[in-house]
Amino acid sequence: MVLLDQIVHQLNSELDIHSYGSDPGFSRFIPAVYDPLQFDWTSVFENEFAQLFNGLMLRGSAEVENVFLAVFPTEDVLTRFIDESKEGDLLFMHHPLLMECGDPNGKSGRGFVPIPEKYLLAMKKKRLSVYTCHEPLDYHQRLGTSIAIAQTLHAKIVDGYLPNEKNQNLILLCEIQKTDTDQLIETLKDKFCIPYVDFEGKQLESIETIAIIAGCGDKVDWMKEAEKKGAQAYITGEIHCHIDNEYGRMKYSQMLAYVPNTTMSLIGVSHSASEYLVMRTLMKSWFEDSFSIQTVLLPQEQWWL
Ligand SMILES: [Zn+2]
Repeated sequence: MVLLDQIVHQLNSELDIHSYGSDPGFSRFIPAVYDPLQFDWTSVFENEFAQLFNGLMLRGSAEVENVFLAVFPTEDVLTRFIDESKEGDLLFMHHPLLMECGDPNGKSGRGFVPIPEKYLLAMKKKRLSVYTCHEPLDYHQRLGTSIAIAQTLHAKIVDGYLPNEKNQNLILLCEIQKTDTDQLIETLKDKFCIPYVDFEGKQLESIETIAIIAGCGDKVDWMKEAEKKGAQAYITGEIHCHIDNEYGRMKYSQMLAYVPNTTMSLIGVSHSASEYLVMRTLMKSWFEDSFSIQTVLLPQEQWWL
């Protein structure tokens, strides 16, 4: 058993959540999905979370026996957490909301989706805790979402771009052992445990420099910059936005206009799988090493959704 306050204190300091201030994404998305439902999220979520949109979101009992790790609060993830946990257990996630980005071989996504109230009530009733960390985890110099991908691919980080105010880069430029597009796709399917990738661009015989950005890397400017810096492959969660709204269709058409001109292989492994990797590797070890606590991984039933 470890005290929740001890875990929260150590997470807050390791992830440095206070210095980041209010999360630029979720400070907009959380009100945007809950306010139209007349759901009083400011009284359900912890006070500090309602300001930072990172950190302890739901506070349960004082003692934690197991830490569960997931990337998004999908219904299957929440069901398993509620069923398999003991009172006081903690769910650590990268996102406080589900984001459906769409399946390149299937249905379009709905974008941001709130946690259904019945799950919030069930977690409260069982006195469970939830902690989420978005931007500070993406930029973290040792536990970062893109750094986890680089490590898993045995890629050597040689450069980066899109720095924040702390001069930490969001996108990593890496060298890998020479491969080709087909082999690289097979490796990615294996490492991310996904049935298929989303692919655009050129089929290359020699790839030694890659750009890595976990999550939604579907921005043409970021791809152009990777190309300028010598990347032959661009690996991200989403190379296309498959969200069924105006924003999604606008992003999709911008990408389609760029694709014929790119010199790179553009490979998407799904937003979910690209950011679940850090949970399976670096964050799992961090919890186990920091607290000698039991961890439980909660992979999603579907990565492309
Ligand atoms: Zn993300």
